[in-house]
Amino acid sequence: MAALTSPIAAALRHGPAPLLVLRLPDFERVAWRDGKRAARRLERLTCSAFVESARSVLRTGDLIAHDPGSDLFCIFMTAPSRESRAPRAVDVRAVLERVAATIVMRCEQRVESGWTMLARLDAQRGLGQDIALALERGARERERYEFFSAIGHELRTPLSSIRGYLETLLDEQTDETTARRFLETARREALRMGRLLDGMFEFSLLDLSSCALTAHWCDLQAQMLAACEVVRPLAHSRNVTIRRKMTAEARIGIDPDACLQLLVNMLDNAVKYGRNGGTVCISARAARRNVLITVDDDGPGIAPDERESIFNLRVRGAAGASRPGTGIGLAIVKMIAERAGGSIGVTESPLGGARFEVALPLKEESAARAS
Ligand code: ADP
Repeated sequence: MAALTSPIAAALRHGPAPLLVLRLPDFERVAWRDGKRAARRLERLTCSAFVESARSVLRTGDLIAHDPGSDLFCIFMTAPSRESRAPRAVDVRAVLERVAATIVMRCEQRVESGWTMLARLDAQRGLGQDIALALERGARERERYEFFSAIGHELRTPLSSIRGYLETLLDEQTDETTARRFLETARREALRMGRLLDGMFEFSLLDLSSCALTAHWCDLQAQMLAACEVVRPLAHSRNVTIRRKMTAEARIGIDPDACLQLLVNMLDNAVKYGRNGGTVCISARAARRNVLITVDDDGPGIAPDERESIFNLRVRGAAGASRPGTGIGLAIVKMIAERAGGSIGVTESPLGGARFEVALPLKEESAARAS
C-alpha cells in the first residue's frame, strides 16, 4: 500500500477519486483455527481472484493494492476520465460488486466491501481512516438495501391480494354479497399497505428493538380469519383448500398488524409451495402460557438440513427454485415471533409437506414477561 502513496497523491491532484475496499472478515479466524499455511493459501487465492476480476473491470491508470498478511484489498479508481470528473457512484458500486462476487465465489468466504471518495492522501496518517469510512458506508448501504427489500416484499403481498380480488370482480360473475366481501378485503389490505408504509421505519429490519410489539394484544381468531381472506385469491388460483381450526384462547400479546403479517407470510408460503389442488391447514391450540399456531401443507416439505437456514434473511430453500420469491418472508415471521417473546420451528407435516409452528405468548403472559 505504501508503494502507491506517490502515484495516488499525484492522481488526486487532478481531483478526488473513489477508494474501494474489500475485506475478508474471517481471514484472521482461518489463520487462528486452521493455521498460517491455510491462511496463506486463502490469501493467495483471494489475491488471484482480486487481481483477475479487477483487471476485467478497471481501466488503465486505476490502481490496486494489498499488503501481505492483511485482510484488506483496495482499489483506487484514479484513471483519468475524458470528462475530467470522478466515476459515477453507480459505476463504482458495479466494480465493487463484481470484484466482491468473484472473491465470494472463488474463495467461498464472506466479503465486506464499501467505498468512499478520497480527496487527499496524508502520507503520515495513511489510509486507515478512509478504509474504515469506506467499510462503514458499505455496511450502511447493505443495511438500507435489505431494509427496502423487506419493505418491498411486505408491500407486494397485500398488493397482489388486492389485484386478485379486483381481477375476480372484473372477470367473474359474483353475487352482491361476495362482491362486497371482496371489496372489503381489498380495502382492508389497502389500509394495511398504508400502515406498512407509515410504519416502515418502525418495521425496519435494522432496529428491531425500537418496535414494542408486545405493547398490544389481538384476537387471534380474527387475525386467522383475516389472513385466510388475504391469501384466498392465491389459493383460488392454485385450487388449494384452506382449513382453519381454533381451539385456543383467542387473545395473544402481540400487535394485530404484526400478527396478521406473520400469519399471512406462513399461509402464503403454504399455498405457494403446497400441491396444486391440495390442502393447507392452519390451527391454533393452547400450550401452557402460549398459543401454538400450526400451518401445514402437502407440498415438498423442507429437508432437515434447511430447517434452520431458511429463516435467515434472503435465504431460499430447494422448494424456492420452483416459485418466485425473495427469501424475506420467513425472516420476518421469525423476527416478529421472537420480538413478541415467542418462537418458530419447522418439521414434517402429517399432510406430507411442511409444518410451521409458532408459539406466541397469551396476552396476560406477554404483559408479565414485558414487566
Ligand atoms: P420466499 O418464499 O420468497 O423464497 P421465504 O422466506 O418465505 O421466502 O421462504 C424461504 C424459503 O423457505 C423458500 O425459498 C422455500 O425454499 C422455503 N419454504 C418456505 N415455506 C415453505 C413451505 N411451506 N414448503 C416448502 N418450502 C418452504
